[in-house]
Amino acid sequence: MKVGVLSFQGGVIEHLNHIKLLGHIGIEVKKEEDLNDIEAIILPGGESTTIGKLLKVTGLITPLKKKIKSGLPTWGTCAGMILLANEIEAQEEKYLEAMDIKVERNGFGTQIDSFKIRKGIKEVSDKNVELVFIRAPYITEVKETVEILCEVDNKIVAAKQKNIIVTAFHPELTDDLSFLSYFLKSTPGEI
Ligand code: GLN
Repeated sequence: MKVGVLSFQGGVIEHLNHIKLLGHIGIEVKKEEDLNDIEAIILPGGESTTIGKLLKVTGLITPLKKKIKSGLPTWGTCAGMILLANEIEAQEEKYLEAMDIKVERNGFGTQIDSFKIRKGIKEVSDKNVELVFIRAPYITEVKETVEILCEVDNKIVAAKQKNIIVTAFHPELTDDLSFLSYFLKSTPGEI
């Protein structure tokens, strides 16, 4: 499968490495033409304001929005989750507005409040998975069509709506490929 990774900034290489390890082809996505033959896309962690600005100045935002709306399987990790949200707490600016969630940026605190835990997510693996949080957001509101996959401290940190999955944590920074594998198997789309 050809899996795109939005490649402006942030944890791009880590996702590309995991895609390769699972036997798929990773494609760097920076411009509209790069969307042509991908079958899924990952929006990595990083800084949502920077990635969002680059989405807008390059003009990629509109064709990407269309692709996601038409069913392209999409996974946003951390900053990627913020980019996909319909609403962001205390912030007017929005980006892809693709998912019925409201998010709180840096909801778990600053860089020094970054942390790791192990937790079971039944949809993803029958073993506990390692969850790495780095200046992570969380979801403060969801519409009823959003499926909640994981909560930590009563905060929603992973969710799914149709072809879109979001995680506040970073599976690509661990050795565990189960989340990527779950994403590629479970999102209905054009594939
Ligand atoms: N705090 C970052 C933001 O608001 C997200 C952090 C991350 O992606 N690890 O964009």
